[in-house]
Amino acid sequence: MLDLRSLYGIEAAASIPLSECFVAKPYLLERAGIPADGGGSALLFLLPYYTSGGEGGNVSMYAVAGDYHEYCKSLFADICPRLEALMPGARFAGFADHSPIREVEAAAKAGLGVRGQNGLLISREYSSFVFIGGIYTGADVGIWHDLICGVKIRDSYEPEDCIGCGACRAACPAGAIGERGRIDRDACLSAVTQKKKLTAEEEGAVAEAEYVWGCDICQLVCPYTKAARSSGTLETPLSYFKEKLIKTLDTATISRLISDGEFESRAFAWRGAGVVGRNVHIKEENGQ
Ligand code: SF4
Ligand code: SF4
Repeated sequence: MLDLRSLYGIEAAASIPLSECFVAKPYLLERAGIPADGGGSALLFLLPYYTSGGEGGNVSMYAVAGDYHEYCKSLFADICPRLEALMPGARFAGFADHSPIREVEAAAKAGLGVRGQNGLLISREYSSFVFIGGIYTGADVGIWHDLICGVKIRDSYEPEDCIGCGACRAACPAGAIGERGRIDRDACLSAVTQKKKLTAEEEGAVAEAEYVWGCDICQLVCPYTKAARSSGTLETPLSYFKEKLIKTLDTATISRLISDGEFESRAFAWRGAGVVGRNVHIKEENGQ
């Protein structure tokens, strides 16, 4: 049996049958050798990433440390063979971010948190500053009980919603959060700062924004974040997300990262240096 807490520092994990999940990208399962036939199950877990050392700059907290995709890749490369050794003949594959299922909905159904009106999963311990990792298999959900120590297994998979206080909607500078939590993904600054081409209006929004990459405003104002901060659980226990922090980007820092060969190891690199560099340039032109 694997103890995710002692092996990897993962404290919250829960299992769910894939029949309870919206499988939006079945081809990802099939490519990984897992049948997407309505059977199978997933182990979902939270990777908290908030660190106080990452606050106060112009980069969203999720991108302040090294690229989380790299972290997840090494994690899955370690966990999946261990699971396959424990259960010979079964196949396990890990995904995070680019996942076969709608992760927020599934994680809420599995009991890892509530669905926030800001579109994010919110856990009691870490609020919404979490990546959702998932390990998928063609085997029944019951196997997780035998494979993982302390895994949460629910009797029913009813998702819960946040308290709906509206603080995120009121604080959103882009007006991207509508009534009852409908998110306008195109207007959200997190998406806008990642766009290859900007309209004149979007350029104006980037010039005014606090961040050159992403946006944390709706997370920071959320009462779940405030409660997690006061109770001392917000800070990630995972050292990867506390190290090599770059919380502020300017032209000189981007140039240094590129010349040191470090740029590609960052989450803000995935659209290329041109996109984040453009955002920095827009803000510098505006005297920020
Ligand atoms: S700020 Fe309020 S409405 Fe928005 S996600 Fe948090 S609890 Fe829900
Ligand atoms: S990330 Fe920023 S722009 Fe997007 S919904 Fe939240 S507050 Fe609004």
